[in-house]
This record gives sequence, C-alpha cells and structure tokens, in this order.
Amino acid sequence: MKISFSQLRLIIAGFSVASMVCPASRAAQTSRDPQTSGPSTTVVIDAGHGGFDRGGIPGQRIPEKEMTLDVAQRLKGVLTAAGYRVVMTRDSDVFVPLATRVAIANSYRNAIFVCIHFNSAKRMGAGGIETYFYSRDSLPLASAVHYFVAGGAPSANRGVRRRGFYVLRKTGIPAVLVECGFLTNPTEGAYAESTSYRQKLATEIAAGIRGRSSVTSTSSRTGVATDDSIPLQSYIDQTKVSSSKRSHKRSSRTKSSKKKKSSKTLDSEASATARKQEG
Ligand SMILES: [Zn+2]
Repeated sequence: MKISFSQLRLIIAGFSVASMVCPASRAAQTSRDPQTSGPSTTVVIDAGHGGFDRGGIPGQRIPEKEMTLDVAQRLKGVLTAAGYRVVMTRDSDVFVPLATRVAIANSYRNAIFVCIHFNSAKRMGAGGIETYFYSRDSLPLASAVHYFVAGGAPSANRGVRRRGFYVLRKTGIPAVLVECGFLTNPTEGAYAESTSYRQKLATEIAAGIRGRSSVTSTSSRTGVATDDSIPLQSYIDQTKVSSSKRSHKRSSRTKSSKKKKSSKTLDSEASATARKQEG
C-alpha cells in the first residue's frame, strides 16, 4: 500500500485528531500551526526549586531540583509535539522566586499552570503521588492530572488535595502542583532516577492536561472511566480542616489500599512538606 506524503504527515503530526476527523477536514489538520493542529491553550510549566534551592530535606541524596527540571523538560517535549504552546518558568538550573513564577503564569491568557515537584520525608517508607490545587477552577485539571499520574505510577495514591501554596493561590489561571513521588523513599527514588520513568511521568501529566475538559462531575464511586470521561477525584481540603481533624477525611479512593499506613502519619508528613515548600 502506498502512503502519500500528506497522509504520512498526518500520521506523524496528527495522532491526537487524525482518527476522528472526516477526510474532507484533514487538509487543515495537517498544518503545524497550533491554531489548527493543536489546542490553543498555553501551558506554563513550573519546574520546582533550582539554583541554590535544591528542594527536598537536608541530606537528601537525590536533588529534587534536577528531577523536577528533567520532568518539566520532558513534559515540554510531549506537549509541544501535541501542538501546545509551552512556557517554562525555568529551563536550566537557576533560582526563580515564587513571585516571578506567578507573574510569568499570570502574563498569559487562556493558559494553565503546572508545577512539578517531588516529595520528601524523614521516614524512608513514606511514599505516593499527590496533586494539589487551590481555586475551584483548577479542580478539573487537578483531577485529570492526578487520575493519569497516580494511575500510571506504581506508587501509593495519596489523593488530590486543596491547599494554599503561594504559586496556586496567586495564579489567576487554573493551576496545579503535582508531587511525583518521594525521593527519600528508596523504591520511588530509584524510579525517579530512571529516565524512562521520568518520561512516563511527563506523558501522564500531558494526558491529564489534554483530558482536563473530560472530567465529569460524577462521583468516582459510580462514574465509569472511559477514554472520554475522567471521574472527578475526591479531595482533601487542607485549607479549612485543622491537622488533628484531617485523618477521617482522607480519600476513600486510595488505590493501593494494601499499603495501609496511618493516615495521620501521612498527613503530618504532607503538612511538613507543604510548610517546607512555602518557605
Ligand atoms: Zn518541591
């Protein structure tokens, strides 16, 4: 079978839309102009930490700032290939103040803001994926990103959490912060150190970005997840509940229930991490 040049271009460039469009509309879809071949949304990618700010906790072996930058750059590659306009708050090992990161995000219209971080804790066994948001407008994005990242990771699902991180509170566009696992956990640290796993994280975050408008308001208990619908993830609102009351509000959707830890322990670790990141 002979494939024409234009068909080949379609196969390479239009993987996300080619199968769904009728032949008559394909000519326009082959253009690499983001207006026609991809979404018009700008994605501002924020690689956590950088420069003198190594991230993580004192004495931590794996530098968080290097892992966040690598995943951010891989995410940039995946999104650019899908036709998104991508802006990086940092693209090298430099320190960028939080206010500058927010100013960059807020200078784009029709944009979304995705912060990449990894977690850390003094207890080596602490692990899992968690995704944070603050404004209600950001919940579909947080739900979708978490659905894919936690679903694709071998780590525990620590759930979607609402918390007033500076970069989430001050951004006027949908904004999420994803904690891609604990670098202090030997298993998750080893994953993070492999390039294939960091590529997978980037792919899953990108899938969440692309799927954010497919998040349904159906409860995750009754909702059936298909390619077209992503269940709204239940979340823990850490902006209103005191730390002593948090444990009973933990997500019942926790995927790896076999890895049952005291939720109180997990939450206090998350809070410690949160405080560290605010500073
Ligand atoms: Zn961090």
